[in-house]
Amino acid sequence: MSQDAAQFTAAVVGGGLMGSGIAAQLALAGVPTQVHDTAPLAQERVAQACRTVCQELQAAGRLSAPQADGALARIRFEPRLEALADATLVIEAIPEHLPSKHALYAALEAVLPDTAVLASSTSGYPPDELARQLRCPQRFLVAHFWNPPHLIPLVEVVPAQATGAGVVAQVMQQLVHCGCEPVLLHKAVPGFIGNRIQFAVLREALHLLGQGVADAATIDRVVSATLGRRYRQLGPLEGADAGGLDTFLAIATHLMPELARDEQVLALLQERVDKGHLGRKSGEGFYRWDAQRHACYAQARLRMADPIFTHPGESPA
Ligand code: NAD
Repeated sequence: MSQDAAQFTAAVVGGGLMGSGIAAQLALAGVPTQVHDTAPLAQERVAQACRTVCQELQAAGRLSAPQADGALARIRFEPRLEALADATLVIEAIPEHLPSKHALYAALEAVLPDTAVLASSTSGYPPDELARQLRCPQRFLVAHFWNPPHLIPLVEVVPAQATGAGVVAQVMQQLVHCGCEPVLLHKAVPGFIGNRIQFAVLREALHLLGQGVADAATIDRVVSATLGRRYRQLGPLEGADAGGLDTFLAIATHLMPELARDEQVLALLQERVDKGHLGRKSGEGFYRWDAQRHACYAQARLRMADPIFTHPGESPA
């Protein structure tokens, strides 16, 4: 099942938020990429999302106009699943609904040769659960991309028990070729690493908000101006080493029992969702999304395109 990292054709199934971003990332690395989506207006939506990725990288000075044109030309929208038969790497990015993913894998296996590799961009389903009904489970693994892939290139690669060792090595190489930063997990746990930590932080942030300790803007500011700055350079374990493990033990011993540990905080999300306050996409969430907030958000994304995140293998514009 070995494929040359520099010579493969990819397909992305599901051209939503993640699928479009993943397709753009692959195409920017020179990989011919098909995108398949069942939604009626998906083709234009995918094209627009990929153009936006290129525009952001151009605005950050990381991509030239000819490079952008080349990448966009490598992305082909494909309304028929059968047309993906030539893809050697298929990345699934449909919504987080297990029966839909199982149904899609069955349809894909009817079309793909046994040598094609199937990767899911799931945010948290364990790979064994996803691979349960596959005819060729050795071809399957999780490749958990972050949103947006062109600004956050790290990918958590999580093999299932049946995944072939060669498949893991091959996908890791292909991801490096695409300017991603793959990390391999030794063990599958729901949410992998990043989402477990993201949601542990979110639980505590919601708890603090619910307790009236501060408003949303203050909580966000404390996190982004302290932990955000530090985490960009040092993870929590190295940060603990730097601070002194005896000190961290003393603080954790009295503080950890005080932290939120249950799901009661979800009520704060539920009440907003019930009112249709879904955040940026509906115009209101914890914040009101007026033109100024949209502009600040665009600036923040641009700052995330800082070349400090650029993979060493990426050629500058
Ligand atoms: P999304 O809703 O933005 O996009 C899903 C797309 O899949 C839609 O365009 C939809 O039309 C299409 N689709 C649905 N069923 C399909 C089918 N059977 N065949 C082809 N296309 C189909 O969802 P998203 O946020 O991009 O999430 C996709 C996956 O990526 C999920 O598993 C999610 O957990 C994971 N993920 C999401 C994020 C995030 O921040 N949103 C981050 C990392 C991973």
